[in-house]
Amino acid sequence: MKRVVIIGGGITGLAAAHRVLERCHESGRQVDLTLLEASGRVGGIVQTHERDGFLLESGPDSFISEKPAALELARRLGLETNLIETSDNHRRSFVVRRGRLRPVPRGFHLLAPGELWPFVKSDIFSWRGKARMAMDLVLPRRNTNGAAEESLADFVRRRLGSEALERMAQPMIGGIYTADPEKLSLRATMPRFLEMEHEHRSLIRALRKQSRSPIVREGVAAGTSGARYSLFLSFDRGMQLFTDKLAERISGLKFKLMADGAQSAGSIRVNTAVEALALENPDGRMQPTWTIRTRRGETLAADALCLALPAYACAELLGTVDEQLATELDGISCASSATLNLAYKRDDIPHPLDGFGFVVPFIENRSIIACTFSSVKFTGRAPGGRVLLRSFIGGALQPKMLDLTEAALLARVRNDLRDLLGIEAAPLFTELQKWDRSMPQYHVGHLDRVRRMQERVNSLPGLALAGNAFSGPGLPDCIRSGEAAADEIVASLTPSISSKPSR
Ligand SMILES: Cc1cc2nc3c(=O)[nH]c(=O)nc-3n(C[C@H](O)[C@H](O)[C@H](O)COP(=O)(O)OP(=O)(O)OC[C@H]3O[C@@H](n4cnc5c(N)ncnc54)[C@H](O)[C@@H]3O)c2cc1C
Repeated sequence: MKRVVIIGGGITGLAAAHRVLERCHESGRQVDLTLLEASGRVGGIVQTHERDGFLLESGPDSFISEKPAALELARRLGLETNLIETSDNHRRSFVVRRGRLRPVPRGFHLLAPGELWPFVKSDIFSWRGKARMAMDLVLPRRNTNGAAEESLADFVRRRLGSEALERMAQPMIGGIYTADPEKLSLRATMPRFLEMEHEHRSLIRALRKQSRSPIVREGVAAGTSGARYSLFLSFDRGMQLFTDKLAERISGLKFKLMADGAQSAGSIRVNTAVEALALENPDGRMQPTWTIRTRRGETLAADALCLALPAYACAELLGTVDEQLATELDGISCASSATLNLAYKRDDIPHPLDGFGFVVPFIENRSIIACTFSSVKFTGRAPGGRVLLRSFIGGALQPKMLDLTEAALLARVRNDLRDLLGIEAAPLFTELQKWDRSMPQYHVGHLDRVRRMQERVNSLPGLALAGNAFSGPGLPDCIRSGEAAADEIVASLTPSISSKPSR
């Protein structure tokens, strides 16, 4: 029986393990699969728990339905009835400008307006700033022949001006990537805007055209098939339902597969950190084998190996196998961030909370970078008469925030919430979760780096890398990357397919 080891039990590793078993089940192939996870639980950054009737998310609170991998997997796991959409009421968000929450103009899409009138009326931008943004309608396309790759900041300044960058693009994109827009690669993160410029010349023109499409007008994204959903989805019992169900299926599939006579087995081992890897017979003349040593001193052997780890953790393990690959992996820096859940009595919050939350531009000089009104965004997050808020702290632009003590962080967040939402009262309780080096930074040159890394990986038999460091940090990206790695692994176990397919 072929042995497959997956290292890392976050959503990526779980999705990879599940796909390997699914594929083997479909083809009647035998496989012995082991997933090794360093901590005492699976799920990685995906983490939900209940307290006093509140449902708290420490990591992701939703996923985007436009990218099909997460929705499709949820369906295959039988979780479709557990999916919940964002609330119908208050489907809007705010941006902080001069210490006040201002609604993001209707039709505004991260960087540029798709509807003119709400943009013209908005008090987020000055008249000068609006005039500069409108110049996008007449500015020529960039001549990309031989031109250097642009950062998000360079692109936005060129097409829409500095105000658009400082007051909107930075906090909006910063919220997603917790990144410095001066370094962030537009091509690796938001290639859609480059395509818009290429096809339509003007972003505003392209977005206006898009906003007239029925799907965007209704504010929903089309799934791959079947029902149409809101742009963001979660689960009734929180995001951890997804990873718990995956883990249950991976362990459960063992029995189902065995009952079918295929004899494949999946097992998950927590509290099992891997500390060293070695590849024997890499030239392929004899069967190449991976040796995996855990911190407990055990040794496992595998015919195929998937690393579903943060880039720096992959680099540490691969240093002795392929130095060049390890150096490339080390070049992907990761920003740290924290989430602070705050439970309140509704009556203690003077603000109407008539939106899903707000983002805070760096130029506003605040401690929080964003805040979600969690119990407004999704139902079932707080009991009656109570409200759950969730603040984000840190990221690439404010790394020092993570050095503060919990008490100091809480004081700063409460200070911001008093100024921005008028909350004087103390929260019923708070829960802080720090995420050290959790968000990979897709700097200019990222896609070239990923291509170089893939070339190195292709030269190492039976190895696949997956995770949020390569082709997107969102949950659907991680799932797609884990499943693609699994497909590669299964193909590598098939004798007739000797070379690795490129991803
Ligand atoms: C605060 C926050 C909010 C987010 N919100 C959203 C959101 O709303 N929507 C969305 O789509 N995305 C969101 N993301 C991004 C998304 O959650 C992550 O990109 C994704 O969960 C990463 O999953 P992963 O499995 O690749 O990595 P991880 O979850 O980091 O899992 C890696 C696992 O590997 C284990 N490990 C590490 N080293 C070893 C070793 N040597 N041996 C064995 N195991 C090891 C770790 O313990 C960990 O469990 C958010 C991220 C953060 C930090």
